[in-house]
Amino acid sequence: MTSKSAAAATRAAVYGYPRQGLNRELKKAVEGYWKGAVPADALHATAAEVRSENWRQLTDAGVDEVPTGDFSYYDHVLDTTVMVGAIPDRHRAAVATDALAGYFAMARGTQDVAPLEMTKWFDTNYHYLVPELGPGTVFTANSAKQVTEYTEAQASGLCARPVLVGPVTYLLLAKPAPGAAEGFEPLSLLDRLLPVYADVLADLRAAGAQWVQLDEPTLVQDRTPAELDAAAHAYRVLGALADRPKLLVASYFDRLGDALPVLAKAPVDGLALDFTGPGAANVDELAAAGGLPGKRLVAGVVDGRNVWINDLGKSLATLGTLLGLADRVDVSASCSLLHVPLDAAAEKEIDPQILRWLSFARQKTEEVVTLATGLSRGTEAIASELAANRSALASRAHSPITRSPEVRARVAAVTGKDTRRPQPYEERVTAQRAHLGLPLLPVTTIGSFPQTAELRTARADLNAGRIGAGAYEQRIEAEIREVVSYQEKAGIDVLVHGEAERNDMVQYFAEQLTGYLATRHGWVQSYGSRYVRPPILAGDISRPAPMTVRWTRYAQSLTSRPVKGMLTGPVTMLAWSFVRDDQPLRETARQVALALRDEVQDLEAAGTHVIQVDEPALRETLPLRTADRPAYLTWATEAFRLSTSDVRPDTQIHTHMCYAEFGDIVQAITDLDADVISLEAARSHMQVARELAAHGYPREAGPGVWDIHSPRVPSTEEAAMLLRTGLEAIPADRLWVNPDCGLKTRGWAETRTSLENLVAAARTVRSEL
Ligand code: GLN
Ligand code: ZN
Repeated sequence: MTSKSAAAATRAAVYGYPRQGLNRELKKAVEGYWKGAVPADALHATAAEVRSENWRQLTDAGVDEVPTGDFSYYDHVLDTTVMVGAIPDRHRAAVATDALAGYFAMARGTQDVAPLEMTKWFDTNYHYLVPELGPGTVFTANSAKQVTEYTEAQASGLCARPVLVGPVTYLLLAKPAPGAAEGFEPLSLLDRLLPVYADVLADLRAAGAQWVQLDEPTLVQDRTPAELDAAAHAYRVLGALADRPKLLVASYFDRLGDALPVLAKAPVDGLALDFTGPGAANVDELAAAGGLPGKRLVAGVVDGRNVWINDLGKSLATLGTLLGLADRVDVSASCSLLHVPLDAAAEKEIDPQILRWLSFARQKTEEVVTLATGLSRGTEAIASELAANRSALASRAHSPITRSPEVRARVAAVTGKDTRRPQPYEERVTAQRAHLGLPLLPVTTIGSFPQTAELRTARADLNAGRIGAGAYEQRIEAEIREVVSYQEKAGIDVLVHGEAERNDMVQYFAEQLTGYLATRHGWVQSYGSRYVRPPILAGDISRPAPMTVRWTRYAQSLTSRPVKGMLTGPVTMLAWSFVRDDQPLRETARQVALALRDEVQDLEAAGTHVIQVDEPALRETLPLRTADRPAYLTWATEAFRLSTSDVRPDTQIHTHMCYAEFGDIVQAITDLDADVISLEAARSHMQVARELAAHGYPREAGPGVWDIHSPRVPSTEEAAMLLRTGLEAIPADRLWVNPDCGLKTRGWAETRTSLENLVAAARTVRSEL
């Protein structure tokens, strides 16, 4: 293939890069600053080093345009709030006194002032701080961070492109400030916000920026005609500015749909589109919209949020098609590389056979550069890269790791019958009541008990070889004894073993399943200074041996009350891991579900009659486009049922989800066919109970009566009030008493008092029935 874009060589671009540094230097500096151990100057110096190291890596790899302004001390949406001066009133004084301390106060709150709300960034595992805007919000431009970072890059002789959260996305991600009138829409502030963007663009232009990127990922979600009009208006206004930098409007995570013609017509200079995953539909949509005559297209053909090597041949074919649709085509990852770990080459413990299939930020950058080279200089120029890529792809496609005949045969044999419990709920509930003999308003917990410093030390000692497996197991058993005897004394009805042995609710299982990989340095930002290391679903999944039975059985041996078995559900296992891109998610979910099904059966055989399968991620994995949701919910609920349906009628299946808004998935919750569900409800005063009732939810439910996200201890009277409120919506023979979520982040002291108050509240309210 040779390039027909003769005007200029194809450029390699990146929208954003991991922010933490090779050894998580930024995390250490930020947390040190919070503790008072690192002065602000030292923090700024570390940050500047991380930025310049990132740019060096990108430039060394051959990237033509490096991003600036994507770096953040905490979150890039919070940085945008600072850039447009939308500091909430309650934080103004602190920000005015000390901008850095005030910034972190907005992120984390202080003793007296609440932080901004944090929520998920689209369907990734990154969380941003939600802007709070009201009718009185006054925007003022503060371009200092953007200009400084651009100037830094430019001073090192780089071609840099500042990246900003676009104005429409900024407003659509915001929520009404406290006190804003009912129905206030932040998007109504657009005309006030645009002049501020104009100022920032002018400042960047004055600093020398040729191009500025404005990210508008909210436009890949379903948008109303009014919202699309707002986007058209915004870019008409910004496009009409005199002496502005060239504008590149970027979208990612899905196809643009109705927003594509809007942006294609806008007087901006280029669009960046995602052509991976569901974004692949952008090719046809772009063709249907008549392409981008006169504009630059930045083609996100390298998946920016997964860890697999690119299919370079396929990407070149896509790029070839795109060359016919825009004035010039440049190459990029589909989104910021913030969502992947930094460097696969750092994973010395991963089998080199598998390592060749993996591509983290550094490798993705190289792929982008290779594709840009191939596009402008012809495939001969990248012959060796293409050959290596083909061989790695073939090795992945034919590996026994990705194709286990046994796993595949088992998945292929699954029928509808395997995903249905043999008895209808009405029969099961009678059998379960007879078998378990629980009081009305039974009290239980969500699974984990406090993960104490001693437990974490024991695990670290085990991993470092300072203690042996035997000593570690004794330590866990001692913890289980304590947890079980405490629950008996406290008067809890359905006990748990406390999950002391689990480092994390996904990783614990991933480590025991064949086909899952763990990384050593694969940190990805979750929020602020918190990083996680998602495991990788690399191959066909099977369970060589029971994963939890030993601990649950031990706990059950200590008590005559029922002990609940505790598993993480298939959807959550996928949601909090890197998933395979070589088969539909549905397939991977089925494989995980079958492994869990074996565990469920082994638990039952070991005498466990209450089994909880947690699915806190069911809702967060919803596709961004509503049209794609029914198909997702079908396979997601089916996978849950596949793991839980092969049990006796008197075995009670629980599930747990930690959120209060689930109106859009209440049918899916019913489709799980669990016998009992526990949900978060304490903060919303049992709103969940009313919603379940409104939707006619026909099962038992435990709306949480203790907000475990706060160290506050609920009083007996408060818990009793919540239970009475719950009883207005849910009949007494279907209401459970439990906290909102697991207790692993709580201390023992507050746990004891709170649970005792919960039991007392249950007794009080029972006596009123
Ligand atoms: N069983 C888990 C626990 O208690 C559930 C955690 C969660 O919902 N995120 O920790
Ligand atoms: Zn939870």
